[in-house]
Amino acid sequence: MVTPIQHHIDGKLVVGKSGRMSPVFNPATGEQSGEINLANMAQVNEAISAAKKAFPAWGNTTPLRRARILNKFLRIAEDRSAELAACITAEHGKILSDAMGEVQRGLEVVEFATGAPQLLKTEFTENVGTRVDSYSLRQPLGVVAGITPFNFPAMVPMWMFPIALAAGNCFILKPSERDPSASLLIAKWLEEAGLPKGVFNVVIGDKEAVDAILLCPDIAAVSFVGSTPIARYIYETGTRTGKRVQALGGAKNHMIIMPDADMDQAVDALMGAAYGSAGERCMAISVAVPVGKKTADTLIAKLEPKIRALKVAPGTDTEAEMGPLVTRQHFDKVKGYINEGVKEGAKLVVDGRGLKLQGYEGGYFLGGSLFDNVTTDMKIYKEEIFGPVLSVVRVDDYNTAAKMINDHEFGNGTAIFTRDGDAAREFAHQIQVGMVGINVPIPVPMAFHSFGGWKASLFGDHHMHGPEGLRFYTKLKTVTSRWPTGIRAGADFVMPTMT
Ligand code: NAD
Repeated sequence: MVTPIQHHIDGKLVVGKSGRMSPVFNPATGEQSGEINLANMAQVNEAISAAKKAFPAWGNTTPLRRARILNKFLRIAEDRSAELAACITAEHGKILSDAMGEVQRGLEVVEFATGAPQLLKTEFTENVGTRVDSYSLRQPLGVVAGITPFNFPAMVPMWMFPIALAAGNCFILKPSERDPSASLLIAKWLEEAGLPKGVFNVVIGDKEAVDAILLCPDIAAVSFVGSTPIARYIYETGTRTGKRVQALGGAKNHMIIMPDADMDQAVDALMGAAYGSAGERCMAISVAVPVGKKTADTLIAKLEPKIRALKVAPGTDTEAEMGPLVTRQHFDKVKGYINEGVKEGAKLVVDGRGLKLQGYEGGYFLGGSLFDNVTTDMKIYKEEIFGPVLSVVRVDDYNTAAKMINDHEFGNGTAIFTRDGDAAREFAHQIQVGMVGINVPIPVPMAFHSFGGWKASLFGDHHMHGPEGLRFYTKLKTVTSRWPTGIRAGADFVMPTMT
């Protein structure tokens, strides 16, 4: 059965108006499960108008009351997290336990945002001059938008809207059209928690909807997460129209394995980091860099049997370690990269192509794949594959490994596995990457820290959530006041110095 998927605008579910239909698939079976009549420009503008109408009241609602609504949403979503996870698995394909993890990491940002009354406290200086005080305010921007990718249909929206709403903004979410249903559940639960209609809206669309957001003068800020070419486009177009923009892009995350590393720990870490969520994570490790021949040989020897033993199955199978890729198109793309790597001369140690699952022949399943002897001039090294494909680049020393990472176009995440504190400290200090792990393969910052990469992995000045999120979604105002007003000092034409 193909379910029609609607949009959530001004507190109501509404049918799309573009007449352009976009299918949603169950990646485990390849069967179409849903259909979206995409939002057109006029419909996105309707959502923006609803948000604009809701803003004066929401922006003036006390932070404590806003926090209480978020708190109620948190409790609803915690109670029903299995429902949200099932919705993610059905459209994205990731295994259920991973989907539960995604929900939890997203809800931690909601938990952070429930501290709004504390977070919005600002600075006050008494007597900056005689009987003159100065204080700052953090005020909402107005209507803000989030444009999100397919790979975390619940967590990435939750990197954005909880803090935006806590700070008093109204929100337009444009989720990925591949797996939009999680966003609609979130919208429903937010309103159940008491969020006034129009404060949070979901419009599902493609470039037309995105352009409507970018071109609308009523949108004050845009948060984006997705691939680098689109991130660059969003940043350039959004800032040209005067908006505040944070646009997070793609990644190619390296993990250095030093000769003194605990190899079993490093191998286990690599398995989860490279093949978890079928490699469709912006923090997945896609390049392993063992230092020295012995380290590399041991690494490959330990990895190979584990990759062959990976349990690939539908995400709903409780034994599954890896589910299918998101769409047929993405499956073909990842497979194309494996073909390309073979053509380029890398050694394909484990070949995940040709995997067939009985009863799921139409699903987009690819086995874990491993390339050895990858070099930095190869396409499979330079480009983001976003699938269960790990490349091993062998190097002779630490400096070559670090230089290689620093020379790469992307700078999202990276890790080093070592027992040497000196090497680890040097790595953390000099590496040109936004998120660094030391014996931690996927160093995703917690909600109360901020998430973001460097170089082509992020365009803009602010990382997501944590203190950076709060800065992004508020405008700073500084007030200088003198009481009583009756003091007459006469007109003064020099720069005020408070002396
Ligand atoms: P994508 O760039 O194709 O899509 C992201 C969003 O942009 C979607 O909402 C989509 O509808 C929209 N979009 C797509 N094409 C567009 C166009 N031409 N014009 C305007 N909007 C357009 O990304 P994806 O395939 O959904 O997600 C995977 C990518 O996201 C990977 O590159 C991954 O590294 C990246 N990602 C990055 C982070 C991070 O934190 N840096 C996190 C998650 C995912």
